[in-house]
Amino acid sequence: MTGYPTRIDFATAAEIVREIAGNRMLKAERVPVTRASGRVLAEDIVSPIALPPFDNSRMDGFAFAHASLSTEVPTALRLAGAQFAGLLQDLHVAAGECVRITTGAPLPRGTDTVAIKEDCIEEGGSVRVPAGIAPGADVRRCGEDVHAGVRVLEEGQVLTPARASLAAALGVASMAVTQRPTVAVFTTGDELVEPGLPLAPGQIYNSNRELLMGLLRAEGLEPTAWPTLPDDPERMAAMLTDAAAAFDVVITCGGVSAGEKDHLPGLLATHGRIHFWKVRMKPGMPVLFGDMDRALFLGLPGNPVSVLATFLTLGRELLDGLQRRRESRPQWKAVLTAPWRKTHARLEFLRGGLGSAADGRLQVTPNAADASHHLRAAADSNALIVLPEGAHDYRAGDVVDVIGC
Ligand code: AMP
Ligand code: MG
Repeated sequence: MTGYPTRIDFATAAEIVREIAGNRMLKAERVPVTRASGRVLAEDIVSPIALPPFDNSRMDGFAFAHASLSTEVPTALRLAGAQFAGLLQDLHVAAGECVRITTGAPLPRGTDTVAIKEDCIEEGGSVRVPAGIAPGADVRRCGEDVHAGVRVLEEGQVLTPARASLAAALGVASMAVTQRPTVAVFTTGDELVEPGLPLAPGQIYNSNRELLMGLLRAEGLEPTAWPTLPDDPERMAAMLTDAAAAFDVVITCGGVSAGEKDHLPGLLATHGRIHFWKVRMKPGMPVLFGDMDRALFLGLPGNPVSVLATFLTLGRELLDGLQRRRESRPQWKAVLTAPWRKTHARLEFLRGGLGSAADGRLQVTPNAADASHHLRAAADSNALIVLPEGAHDYRAGDVVDVIGC
């Protein structure tokens, strides 16, 4: 079990994960725009049409030629018809005339300006339009949002609902996205019992499965959970090699440390390949990464907070590499509200509460319960505070990096 990097720094670990996952980038597939939200684009999208596709009204009101208005007094215009949102009517609006129009309706020929309904007075067959309306007022111009033929979305971008909606607005019915990785999730440990069953002395409830499944689902994936693996190397090997033959990613938790029952590093060395074992991070130091058969293998430590920190950092790096996601995850600078004494050398992902101060600056409060089994502190937190390598005394007011969780 030698010949792989160990006790590496976090940035190196993230780079290794990214590079190896990137080399295994999943294939692209076409999906209808109705299924595209949350996926990573595998092609650029060039606008086939302009947005708006035609000049149209910004308001409910009356459309006319600006040249018909007198400059100082309200002008009475003859009401010559109506153009509602929908098919363009065959209207010809002459000088001195106007048409009733609704928001989003195409501007009839002969009109270039809209007066808002509430500012006009209708009298019999005519409409009094106030003075002082600028030429082109309340008209949305063809192409003012997007010109035809320009790149509006790029390969590697995540299709947020707004981006999928932009594609839909352009009439793009389907697009190439990277396939979603299939993920097998394993919890390990003879002490684990599923919620709902009684606990015998020495047993604990399996909390990591819910944590991992939730984290993966939040990534838009449909992970598959295996029954918990006993601390028995043969049975572990049988189930893991089965999963590794069928899934893109195998994620385990527990069994990667130095205890007598921590079989996973040995199993991965035998049945696959280790790319690294142990990273100088806290929590999550014993994290294991490699591959087995067709799957990338990420062995997370067993403590729940370690699972959270290693998944949000290295786990997401792996998923992003496989899907060739080019946009990095959001990270912020925030002001510490309380001092913190970092007594160890590893990079730390400390749990904390992120919010904004009255002056508008982001601020973060470290949670004092910083041990990797303190799940309550993680549940009470919405951020990981990134404290770089090296012991350091932080003061209230110091600026730190923060990632959301
Ligand atoms: P291990 O690395 O397997 O020794 O696990 C480290 C710690 O995490 C031990 O206290 C385990 O009981 C705990 N642990 C491991 N897996 C889980 C799990 N699925 N849910 C809750 N705690 C776990
Ligand atoms: Mg264990």
